[in-house]
Amino acid sequence: MSANETFVIVGAGLAGAKAAETLRHKGFDGRLVLIGSETERPYERPPLSKDFLRGESTDTPYVHPADYYEARNIELMTGSNVGSIDAKGQEIALEEGGSVGYDRLLLATGAEPRRLDVRGADLDGIFYLRTVSNSKQLGARLEPERRVVVVGAGWIGAEIAASARQKGCEVTMLEMGALPLERVLGRELGQIYLDLHRDHGVEFLPKTIVGGFEGGDRVERVVTMGGAAIDADLVVVGIGVAPRTKLAEDAGLEVSNGIVADENLETSIDGIFAAGDVANAYHPSYGRQIRVEHWANAQNQGQVVARAMLGERPTYDEIPYFFSDQYDAGMEYSGYAPEWDEVVFRGDVGSREFIAFWLRNDRVVAGMNMNIWDVNDEIRELILAGSPIANRELEDRDIPLAQLGDRGAGHASTSEAGSR
Ligand SMILES: Cc1cc2nc3c(=O)[nH]c(=O)nc-3n(C[C@H](O)[C@H](O)[C@H](O)COP(=O)(O)OP(=O)(O)OC[C@H]3O[C@@H](n4cnc5c(N)ncnc54)[C@H](O)[C@@H]3O)c2cc1C
Repeated sequence: MSANETFVIVGAGLAGAKAAETLRHKGFDGRLVLIGSETERPYERPPLSKDFLRGESTDTPYVHPADYYEARNIELMTGSNVGSIDAKGQEIALEEGGSVGYDRLLLATGAEPRRLDVRGADLDGIFYLRTVSNSKQLGARLEPERRVVVVGAGWIGAEIAASARQKGCEVTMLEMGALPLERVLGRELGQIYLDLHRDHGVEFLPKTIVGGFEGGDRVERVVTMGGAAIDADLVVVGIGVAPRTKLAEDAGLEVSNGIVADENLETSIDGIFAAGDVANAYHPSYGRQIRVEHWANAQNQGQVVARAMLGERPTYDEIPYFFSDQYDAGMEYSGYAPEWDEVVFRGDVGSREFIAFWLRNDRVVAGMNMNIWDVNDEIRELILAGSPIANRELEDRDIPLAQLGDRGAGHASTSEAGSR
């Protein structure tokens, strides 16, 4: 480690901020430059669809206090967009002019909302939610009795629908599929989330595809491909995100569903690393490339990639984890289950206090606890143990989870963390 070296981090989100923090914590004493296109210093996004959106908390959820970066000699450049990378010359160029040479480069450019390309898409009153400023602008318009149409019943759409109802708006949620969150959680859990939203007064329209928007100055109606018209004062589109890979692609890095990285989070070009929503990294326990669009992944990969940049060669093999809060239903999910045979429940589904287990070949590949807390470590142990478990034992609340996890050590079976 040399004081003469320069490490540059592109993307001042959670992954970038955690990488910078860890580099200094681990003793890197060279030049450290953290560049972000947003005008805010790094902040966390989960509250933006929850309490911050509802105005219940007004403090921007920054990762670090204002004086943190200067105090650690981290050159934080906000409002700066990196336009290109010269991988041979080891230099990044800023769009506003100027360049910075690097010895090691981290790309933590995150993801951006997929846009609806339909007629009327640029009418006023149609929102996407990714940034603090999106959340403030949308939050200011969530007034009681406003008719809000949420397009997409994935995590972001479902959380926005919940927050809008909590603010007293009339909410209609449109979804291409049959149920909310079905792609990640499956039919049983999708039905539980549908019931949750209906119980709170959301109108859910399944198998509905937006054909366009109509209105004068601002959006007044959503028109579906089936020809139905739904009156709207506001529309929020939450149809998933796409990894921001253009910089990497232009620089000649391998890109496929994100920036391809190995288990050390190093990309196809030596000395360039990737972490967070943008990284499609090789996961040693699952034996495949995985890209995860969740908070914990950005937090953990940020820390691990810093060690990799310092030459430690750590492997990133965390079991994917995420959480969501909708109304009074909080949940955590651990695991990776692109396919499963069945879902088994422990607890009371009716009162929404349960743990759901996703099984593949009789082994737990993922688990989700709703309104039951402090079980996450045990669920992870069950996944890591990789031993077959009978359904009745999983269902039986009298058998402690820890006891089931102790059955044998193996490794996580191959089986998908969802996306936002
Ligand atoms: C509204 C919302 C709610 C969420 N809620 C949850 C939740 O409840 N649970 C959960 O697990 N996860 C949640 N997530 C997901 C989680 O916030 C993301 O996984 C996490 O923010 C990813 O962090 P990141 O640092 O990889 O990317 P990002 O947070 O996207 O940060 C990347 C940064 O890089 C900047 N950038 C990109 N390109 C350039 C460039 N060329 N030059 C300079 N800067 C650049 C971007 O402007 C951005 O600031 C939520 C996300 C959103 C949007």
